[in-house]
Amino acid sequence: MAERIYLDWNATAPLRPQALAAAAEALEACGNPSSVHAEGRAVRRRIEEAREQVAALVGAEPRNVVFTSGGTEANMTALCPNLVPASPGNGPEMRPRACLVVSAIEHPSVLAGGRFARNAVEMAPVGPDGRCDLAALGRQLAALAQKGVRPLVSIMLANNETGVVQPVSQAAGLVHEAGGVLHVDAVQGAGRIACNINDLGADLLSLSGHKIGGPKGVGALIKRDQALHFADPLVKGGGQERGARAGTENVPGIAGFGAAAALARQALAEDSARMRALRDRLEAGLKAMMPEAIVFGAEAERLPNTTLFAVPGIKAETAVIALDLDGIAVSSGAACSSGKVQPSHVLEAMGVAPPLARGAIRASLGPTTTEFEVDRFLDAWLRLSKTLLKESRGIAA
Ligand code: PLP
Repeated sequence: MAERIYLDWNATAPLRPQALAAAAEALEACGNPSSVHAEGRAVRRRIEEAREQVAALVGAEPRNVVFTSGGTEANMTALCPNLVPASPGNGPEMRPRACLVVSAIEHPSVLAGGRFARNAVEMAPVGPDGRCDLAALGRQLAALAQKGVRPLVSIMLANNETGVVQPVSQAAGLVHEAGGVLHVDAVQGAGRIACNINDLGADLLSLSGHKIGGPKGVGALIKRDQALHFADPLVKGGGQERGARAGTENVPGIAGFGAAAALARQALAEDSARMRALRDRLEAGLKAMMPEAIVFGAEAERLPNTTLFAVPGIKAETAVIALDLDGIAVSSGAACSSGKVQPSHVLEAMGVAPPLARGAIRASLGPTTTEFEVDRFLDAWLRLSKTLLKESRGIAA
């Protein structure tokens, strides 16, 4: 049987062998990292090494990295009204933040609003190219500033569906001018494009292990500096992670995440050039076959590994199943809830008509994707898409 072809790296990246080795080694180590004896100290050293590796991926200081159970928990921890200056004072800066502004294309773990009340969450619009509309964001922040509201703003580094890279550093300027704090969900961008917390101007940044070839169920929330303090940790209990996240650390997950972060950082330039060439080959092949194919967000800067496309008349859910039966894993941009296929909120925010949005298929590549795999995808698409088009027009294929 032919080998399966995995083109769904944005859903989860295959575990890197070095991350597996690091996680397996940590799994065998017995000590509790909070224990003072030699066993405990050995495990603690492994965590601190991983903290350095993860910090280095985003140009942060290791002491500002808090390990979490994944990107979702990092986002949920960050989106907290009680985010106050570390040095206590009596001024308005000590008051909880009354408003959370999120871009309309955020991951559901951000759109859920963290620990803000529903009515305290505002959406910032995106343009048809899938980029956050900075002019609209500026107006929104000015209106809040007039009311004396200092918001927390959350804008992702790159979108998980379209791959469109967001104008984060420009947004940071606007947010800080308005007295706000900026959180950046860098779960999809880190390890694929340059992601330096200082250059981005992010105050807080979220990462997830399994998007960069580390284990699932581990992530990190990273602060740019020591200026901010989480007065209200999400997980309370023991004083682990300097009091920011209680619970005995997931040492194997953290060790694997660290190893994956180190590799992603070392190979960033080379991997991203390779992935871009293959992604462009895929899109060029698709367009040559079907000039009517639409690639969403193609006018904007995108992650080098991601393409989200639709062919009018082809439904994504049928195409994804047909490709799967042919040995190829991709995903659809549509969400299925209660048996009804909903167009993606990302494409909706970009103003894409629902029938076209329902056809959105995402292929996402990784550092080990090959030209052969891309060509196999194109061959399969050539065969299957004709049948799918005939079916959608009601003609027996
Ligand atoms: N943020 C983005 C942009 C994502 O794509 C994802 C996962 O798909 C998450 C957050 C959630 O990360 P995790 O799966 O580690 O909870």
